[in-house]
Amino acid sequence: TMAHSKALLVLENFIGGKFVPCSSYIDSYNPSTGGVYCRVPDSGKEEVEAAVKSAKAAFPIWSSKSPLERSQILNKLADLIEHDLEAFAQAESKDQGKTITFARTVDIPRAVYNFRFFASSILHHTTECTEMATMGCVHYTSRAPVGVAGLISPWNLPLYLLTWKIAPAIACGNTVVAKPSEMTSVTAWMMCKLLEKAGVPHGVVNIVFGTGTKAGEALVCHPDVPLISFTGSTLTAQRIMEKSAPHCKRLSLELGGKNPAIIFDDADLTQCIPTTLRSSFANQGEICLCTSRIFVQRGIYSEFLKRFVAEAKKWKVGNPSDPTVGVGALISKEHLEKVRSYVKKAQAEGARVLCGEGVDSLALPTGNQKGYFMLPTVIAEVKDESCCMQEEIFGPVTCVVAFDTEEEVIKRANSVKYGLAATVWSSNVGRIHRVAQRLQAGLVWTNCWLVRDLNLPFGGMKASGIGREGAKDSYEFFTEVKTITIKH
Ligand code: NAD
Repeated sequence: TMAHSKALLVLENFIGGKFVPCSSYIDSYNPSTGGVYCRVPDSGKEEVEAAVKSAKAAFPIWSSKSPLERSQILNKLADLIEHDLEAFAQAESKDQGKTITFARTVDIPRAVYNFRFFASSILHHTTECTEMATMGCVHYTSRAPVGVAGLISPWNLPLYLLTWKIAPAIACGNTVVAKPSEMTSVTAWMMCKLLEKAGVPHGVVNIVFGTGTKAGEALVCHPDVPLISFTGSTLTAQRIMEKSAPHCKRLSLELGGKNPAIIFDDADLTQCIPTTLRSSFANQGEICLCTSRIFVQRGIYSEFLKRFVAEAKKWKVGNPSDPTVGVGALISKEHLEKVRSYVKKAQAEGARVLCGEGVDSLALPTGNQKGYFMLPTVIAEVKDESCCMQEEIFGPVTCVVAFDTEEEVIKRANSVKYGLAATVWSSNVGRIHRVAQRLQAGLVWTNCWLVRDLNLPFGGMKASGIGREGAKDSYEFFTEVKTITIKH
C-alpha cells in the first residue's frame, strides 16, 4: 500500500553529483527485526553506463588537481562524516545488524580515518630515480591516476570497507563508480549527501546500488573501467576474474579467510582468552579476519577450553541498539541458516558443541523475535578435514582443537585453501618469529589481534586474494607507473 511504502526509506543512485531514482527497487531488511525497512535501487547496465559516463567526464579536472587540493577535500569529507558519526553509526547498526557499540567504535571512526589517512599519505609518496653516468642518462618514474575505478564492497563492514577503496582511489586522482552490497547500502547513500559540501566535484564519486549479478557485473564488464577493486567472497572473485578477462583489467581482490589462532602453552591466557573471544565473535564473527580455528597446545587445552567457553557464554546476544549487547543479528535469514547448518554438520560428524547453537537457549527481546540471532558457538573435537575446519563460516562459530608440536601445528594451520590472517600466542620470541615466518597468511598477529597500521600491506595469500592494500600498495594499485629516460 502507499501508506506502507511511504514509511520505507528509499535510496537513490548518486550519479554526476545528483540523486537519481531507479526504475526498479529491491527490499532491504532490518536484520534485528526481520522486517523490510528500506528499498534499494536495482540498478543494471543503464545506470552503470550513466555513472561511468559521468566519472569519465569528471576525470580530466579531478586528475589535474594537485595532491594537496585533493587532500584538503578528503579531510573535509572526513570531518563531515565525523560530525554525523552518531547518525552513521545508528544507520549502520540498523542496516547490518551489528551492535551500535561496534558501529560507533569501529566502523564509522575507521571510515573517517580512511579519508584522513589517504589525505595525508598522498602527500608523501616519492618516485624513483636512477643515474646511468656512463650513458649520460637519468631514469625516473612518474605515476598517474588510471581513470575510472570500479569499486565493489561487501556487507560485513559496509562504510568501513567502501571508504577503504574510495579514499585511495580519489586521493590518487581517479574518479570512481562504486557498488556497495545490496544488503547494506544506507551509509554509502548518506555519505553521498556530504560530497558536495566537502568540495568533491560532481562525477568524481558515483554510487550505483543493486545486486552483484546485475549492477556489479555491468561494472565489471564495462570497457571504460580499467581497474576493479573488490572485497568479498572467493567465489564471486572467480566470477569477476572471468568476466574481466576479455578486457585484461587490473584487479585487486580481498577475499575470504579461515584464520587460525595458535596458542602455545607459554601464552599469557589472561590476554589471550579475551582477545580470542573477540577475534571469534566480534561483529557476529562476520569479519574476514575473524578466528575460526583455535589450535591449543595439549598441556593447556582443557584449561583454555573451560575458561574460553565460560567467557563465551557471557556474551549478550540481542537488540543491537542496546549498548550492553556484544552480539547483534546476522546479516540475513539465509546467512543465519547457512551458519547454523555448519553446526549441525559438525554434530553429525561427532564433534562436540560446547556452548551456543543447539545447546543453550536464546532469549530475545519482544521486538527482536524475528531477527537473525545466534549464540556464540564453540565446537571441539572436530577433525581438520571437516567442513567446519575448512570452509569459511562467517558467523559466531569457532572450533577449538589440541596440538602437540610446533612443526605439527604449522602444517595443520596451513592446510586450508585460504591464507588471510593468523594469530600466534606465546611468550617465546624465537618461537613467534619461526612460526610467523612459516604461516601462509598475509597478516600474522602475535599476542594481539586486529591491530593495524594502515601504512603496511593488507591482503591475503592463496584463495584469500590477489594484491595488497595500504599506503604504498593502494597508491601503486590506483596509479599507472611510467619509466622515463633522459639523455643529455
Ligand atoms: P559477496 O562476494 O557475495 O559480495 C561482495 C560484493 O560483490 C557485493 O557488493 C555483491 O553484490 C557483489 N557481487 C556479487 N556477485 C557479483 C558478480 N557476479 N559480479 C560483480 N559483483 C558481484 O561477498 P559478501 O557475502 O558480501 O561478503 C562476505 C565475504 O567477503 C566473505 O567471504 C568475507 O571473508 C569477504 N571479506 C573479505 C575481506 C578482506 O579484506 N579480505 C573483508 C571483508 C569481507
